Amino acid sequence: MRQPTRRKLRPEDARRSNLALVLQGINDNPQLSRADLARATGLTKVTISDLVAELISTDLVVETGTSDVARPGKPSTLLDLNASGRDILAMDLSARDQLRGAVLSLRGEPTVTRVRPLDGAVGDEALAAARALAGELADAAGNPILGLGVGTPGTVDASGVVLSAPNLHWANLPLQQLLHDDLDLPVRVENDANVAVLAERRFAGGPDDLVRVHLSRGVGAGLLVGGRLVHGAASDAGEIGHVAIGDDSPVCGCGKVGCLETWTSVPALRARFATEPERREEFLAEAGHRLGLALAPVVGMLGLQQIVIGGPADIATTALLDAARDCIVERTRSEFRPQIDVTASSLGEDAVLLGAAALVLLSELGVA
Ligand SMILES: [Zn+2]
Repeated sequence: MRQPTRRKLRPEDARRSNLALVLQGINDNPQLSRADLARATGLTKVTISDLVAELISTDLVVETGTSDVARPGKPSTLLDLNASGRDILAMDLSARDQLRGAVLSLRGEPTVTRVRPLDGAVGDEALAAARALAGELADAAGNPILGLGVGTPGTVDASGVVLSAPNLHWANLPLQQLLHDDLDLPVRVENDANVAVLAERRFAGGPDDLVRVHLSRGVGAGLLVGGRLVHGAASDAGEIGHVAIGDDSPVCGCGKVGCLETWTSVPALRARFATEPERREEFLAEAGHRLGLALAPVVGMLGLQQIVIGGPADIATTALLDAARDCIVERTRSEFRPQIDVTASSLGEDAVLLGAAALVLLSELGVA
């Protein structure tokens, strides 16, 4: 997310920020009362009552009953997100052969899912398929729509222009603007690895400082630092696949030797499995070790305690994860440093779709 330019804080900004604070509090701890929220946020009870009234009148929050905790005075009314108060539309454009879409509740539960086969379509044809899928999702929504989030492969700038997505043959494509023009809804387009790390935080309990590596045709990563997505000066943060971490690999497609992808991408590993199936575990351990070599300096630099690995079940295996963890621990250990967790993503193939929904929650409501 680009830093906003410095300007005078207006009263409506402060109100929006307080509404986000209250929504976040209710999101994190369903079954809070107004008094609990006042304590948790440091806002006055009068302010909280006013903000909660607005959130209830706009269908974002509901009263769910009364507290059965014995306290003096009248029992307090408990609050929760109104899961069906809005629908979120989400699309995952990262698979090779299909586009996936869903309508989700405010809690991220899918109520409608749609798949459109790509059948090798690229360029304008793939764009037409994505626009059609977005329209289909908007038609399928049963509640007012909060917005559409899209996770796409490639580099994406801060205004949602896909600068380059070679697999889809897209370059300088203003996808966010086009979808906004089609649907007249808030639309956010982000790189698929970036939205996937948002999903790990929102839907899998991940921390605010987190790297999520995705092993697929290539190797990419999404980075959260202090709860913020890191994009990099050229919108290509996390593109670690062509970082050379050795000089003993075959020549990579990019022309260099030693790229992380030549050991760790799904096609590279599956090609090795096919030629020497009996060495599968050894190849996975080697891939994990090379991944650890690339990540250890990042762990040291950012002070990370957790790395999540996403990818197909035959690749993101215990053998690969253990080797990556061992390598990172070996290279970063000190008596001051807490242990690092290297875990497989629990979100499966839904990580990008859920992340696209998380992106909308974050951009429209300020809820992380
Ligand atoms: Zn390369």
